[in-house]
Amino acid sequence: MKRAAAPRRALLGEIRRQVRLGARYHGRDALRPATLAAMAAVDRALFVEDVDRAAAYDDRPLRIGLGQTISQPSLVALMTDLLDLPPRARVLEIGTGSGYQAAILSRLADTVHSVEIVEALALRARQRLAVLGCDNVEVHLGDGCAGWPAAAPYHAIIVTAAASALPPSLAGQLVDDGVLLAPLADPHGQQWLRRLVRAAEGITLDQALLPVTFVPLRDARD
Ligand code: SAH
Repeated sequence: MKRAAAPRRALLGEIRRQVRLGARYHGRDALRPATLAAMAAVDRALFVEDVDRAAAYDDRPLRIGLGQTISQPSLVALMTDLLDLPPRARVLEIGTGSGYQAAILSRLADTVHSVEIVEALALRARQRLAVLGCDNVEVHLGDGCAGWPAAAPYHAIIVTAAASALPPSLAGQLVDDGVLLAPLADPHGQQWLRRLVRAAEGITLDQALLPVTFVPLRDARD
């Protein structure tokens, strides 16, 4: 564990640098201290495949098997920060993948519900999160396009796979002033991270924040 301290510290430095560099896109020069503390506390090496262990502290996405990826740490940090979680937040994640993003959220939220469509990934993530003691995360197997109505409404929803349009059932599962972050592809196929805030009278679609690359959000019929 000690041996990993230096690369983990270096990764935190890189995350802060990347966030600063992207500020002209997303408007955030610095992460909240709580976000940085969560990034520092969760060891990414526990969420990557054995063959990629040496690259766990590189600021880049990695394969997690079954054609899926764990996102770049600086993007995980930024997306977490952009959720602007209130105290005692209830959060919904679509696309559990490795469980890394859910583990970060678990340190900042009261409850995290995370939906994964691939059974093997859901099982593995559930196991990892249990070992880490993330008792406030529930991993559900299912199609996240439907959200997770049973635990709605949420203070924040984070979608970690890209679609060309927002699944229509998600926004209705937010509280008023709730934040939804999702990568959405434009007509040219370029994905943009978008941030929506639910106003009392409906949904306000904010500006596209920054170009991103996520694996596709699957349709249950795929
Ligand atoms: N947040 C993850 C990375 C997500 S990769 C992490 O921290 O590791 C995208 C994930 O979304 C993949 O695991 C993929 O299987 C899942 N996914 C794709 N379509 C989905 C859908 N309709 N519902 C739920 N999960 C979906």
